[in-house]
Amino acid sequence: MATDVLIPDLGDFKEVEVIDVLVKPGDKIDLETPLLTLETEKATMDVPSSAAGVVKSVAVKKGDRVSKGSVVVTVEAGAEAPKAAPKDDKTFTETLVRGIEPVPPPPSGATAAKPAPAAAPAKSTGEQKSYDFDVVVLGAGPGGYTAAFRAADLGMKVALVERWPTLGGVCLNVGCIPSKALLHAAKVIEDAEEMHVAGISFGKPQIDRTKLLDWKSKVVGRLTGGLAMMSKQRKVEIIRGTGVFTSPHEIEVSDTATAVGQQSAPKSGGRKVSFANCVIAAGSESIRLPGLPDDPRIIDSTGALELDLPKRLLVVGGGIIGLEMATVYAALGTKVSVVELTDGLIPGCDRDLVRPLEKRIAKRYEQILVKTKCAKVEALKEGLKVTFEGEKAPEPQVYDKVLVAVGRSPNGKRINAEAAGVTVNERGFIPVDKQMRTNVPHIFAIGDIVGQPMLAHKASHEGKVAAEVAYGEKSFFDARVIPSVAYTDPEIAWVGLTETDAKAKGIDYEKASFPWAANARSLTLGRDEGLTKLLFDKQTHRVLGAGLVGPNAGDLIAEVALAIEMGCDAADIGLTVHPHPTLSETVGMAAEAFEGTLTDLYIPKKK
Ligand code: FAD
Repeated sequence: MATDVLIPDLGDFKEVEVIDVLVKPGDKIDLETPLLTLETEKATMDVPSSAAGVVKSVAVKKGDRVSKGSVVVTVEAGAEAPKAAPKDDKTFTETLVRGIEPVPPPPSGATAAKPAPAAAPAKSTGEQKSYDFDVVVLGAGPGGYTAAFRAADLGMKVALVERWPTLGGVCLNVGCIPSKALLHAAKVIEDAEEMHVAGISFGKPQIDRTKLLDWKSKVVGRLTGGLAMMSKQRKVEIIRGTGVFTSPHEIEVSDTATAVGQQSAPKSGGRKVSFANCVIAAGSESIRLPGLPDDPRIIDSTGALELDLPKRLLVVGGGIIGLEMATVYAALGTKVSVVELTDGLIPGCDRDLVRPLEKRIAKRYEQILVKTKCAKVEALKEGLKVTFEGEKAPEPQVYDKVLVAVGRSPNGKRINAEAAGVTVNERGFIPVDKQMRTNVPHIFAIGDIVGQPMLAHKASHEGKVAAEVAYGEKSFFDARVIPSVAYTDPEIAWVGLTETDAKAKGIDYEKASFPWAANARSLTLGRDEGLTKLLFDKQTHRVLGAGLVGPNAGDLIAEVALAIEMGCDAADIGLTVHPHPTLSETVGMAAEAFEGTLTDLYIPKKK
């Protein structure tokens, strides 16, 4: 009996291009044998057979376009598959959207377990060249440990090379986590202070710096300790020291005993580790401003986390990291000034989102200088004398400390990448494709070292893709959007298209906003300055972007990130029942405002 095998449900995709036909008439095939490869703008994927037998005819050729229901092949006799599309449509559709083709679970055992890593030509061509590890990951930040753990979970033999004594990279040791612990302390202080309006007054906070630092370290320690434990559980070998490439299949790791947050100079004569695949996850470091004196009172974000509280602090750079540290220091009693070269704080973020923050900190900080350059710093005995340049530049000022937070530069030039033939651009970034491959196919790069945005959640998602591709899966980093959050007070979060970008690029959009002054939960928190705005496509009403400002905005942005990934429109969000009273209702109500169904505000009808 002849059976037609059809294209299954492809989710949103129609008229998808056939880029390869994998069978020909006369071939004997089983259930799930890949028949052809399709490519959408998001992913490539194989279409497995839903019937077993001998291929009688093939109905498509390379370059054809197919949709759900198109005939792929006709199969003669043999076992027939369930009538539905392969396995179940949902799985296939999810697979398609994520761009990850399911692979059979590997048998147990390390090296033998994987289906010959796609990117290990020596192995896959059967040259029988053997390496110490299937995958060596250089750097144990959020990108690196995620890649290592995913690779190990797929059955590969993995080593993780790290120069610092604890795992977790910048994020866990000297970035996201310690800064958020301190920001929580700052929030408690400010919230307590503001409760006087409700009749509750506390005295001036007594700050025990040693205890506060100890508490912060414990938070960090729980997380980094957890990583060490999980490495053990997964049998990921941790190799301590600074790694540099010595060839396309080898890294030399020298024991440099580098303190957390510090750079290291590799020594020769270390342990040589060979690999079939490598994932470079060596991260980034704080940019130093040229021409500043070498003085311990000039600190970067790592130094700022030590909380050696000055009376007067100048933060150079009004970006996220600088403003988060400014929030902490101001709450702990330091007089904070911020100087920013561009015309506003948090460059790249819509001005209407930044405004509530500017308004709040204008009252709390000593000075906020925009369009102003920190031109010169002189180290004097009594402090650091800073000279400013700009239209409204003040007279030179003397500060007890200067925190330089002007961005981060990638570590691409510190790993001897040329020995492996890996291209590093002039700024130190390593170019990669959507599978996180560098120009050397078995060497991947992820995280801060491959480019903006330098964020932990981007790094970890890229890490998974690199591990899966090294294993032989067809994974891609195809996130539509990556959310950004400033954990200032108020928090600012945005995702997808910003209004600033839309205007600059002439993108036709429509906007709907909901002011938090009309949100019950926000008022119960004693705050009314927040704003939620959603941007929609004019024709389809799909969500293109969102921006929120207000307490906990960072937690709320994930809903809109999901909405954009899922292709939701305004009605999808507006009709989703949000719990009351929550800040999340502002997202639902902004969508209702767009739909014209909002009842929690009175919006006069357009005539
Ligand atoms: P990293 O975390 O930089 O890790 C790289 C690792 O590689 C390090 O452990 C390093 O020691 C190691 N390494 C480098 N070279 C070598 C070598 N040759 N040999 C051996 N080991 C090596 N991001 C967010 O998403 N949310 C936040 O709230 C946030 N807050 C931040 C706050 C601060 C103060 C800072 C500085 C950063 C913050 N970031 C935040 C950014 C975030 O920390 C980074 O985007 C993230 O850590 C990048 O991860 P990664 O894996 O690429 O590299």
